[in-house]
Amino acid sequence: MASSLQRSEIIGRLKEKGLKVTPQRYAIYANLLSRADHPTADQLLTDLNKDIPVSSQATVYSSLQVLQEVGLVREVLLDGGVARYDGNVKPHHHFQCRNCAAIADIPWEQFQGLDLSGLRSGGKAESYEVTVHGLCSHCAAEAESSSENG
Ligand SMILES: [Zn+2]
Ligand SMILES: [Zn+2]
Repeated sequence: MASSLQRSEIIGRLKEKGLKVTPQRYAIYANLLSRADHPTADQLLTDLNKDIPVSSQATVYSSLQVLQEVGLVREVLLDGGVARYDGNVKPHHHFQCRNCAAIADIPWEQFQGLDLSGLRSGGKAESYEVTVHGLCSHCAAEAESSSENG
């Protein structure tokens, strides 16, 4: 599903936002666009240092901060409180596995048209995001096989 973009297109997006294209920013953004598992900053750091010896933790954090400020990357905070990063900045929802904490995207259309008109607070709703909890396919399969074994 994650379509990987051309190098030139990734660089174009960074430039479009007025960012100086550094190897670290490029690597972090390209990495996020190539995956859909919403890594933490530490997971990104580990992953990136496999390919190029870029990065200190401080560099990864500051690059993520910059990418977030210009709207190319968003931070996803779900239960557990550890920030995950998402290269998908279009509106969408999330699924989180209660066993392994994996996060997956749910298309916006899946929960389109929720009725938000009856807010008790009297506030005016402007957007919403749904988090679905459960077991990912991997953990569900494991739970099933362990219950079969007694
Ligand atoms: Zn799981
Ligand atoms: Zn997401």
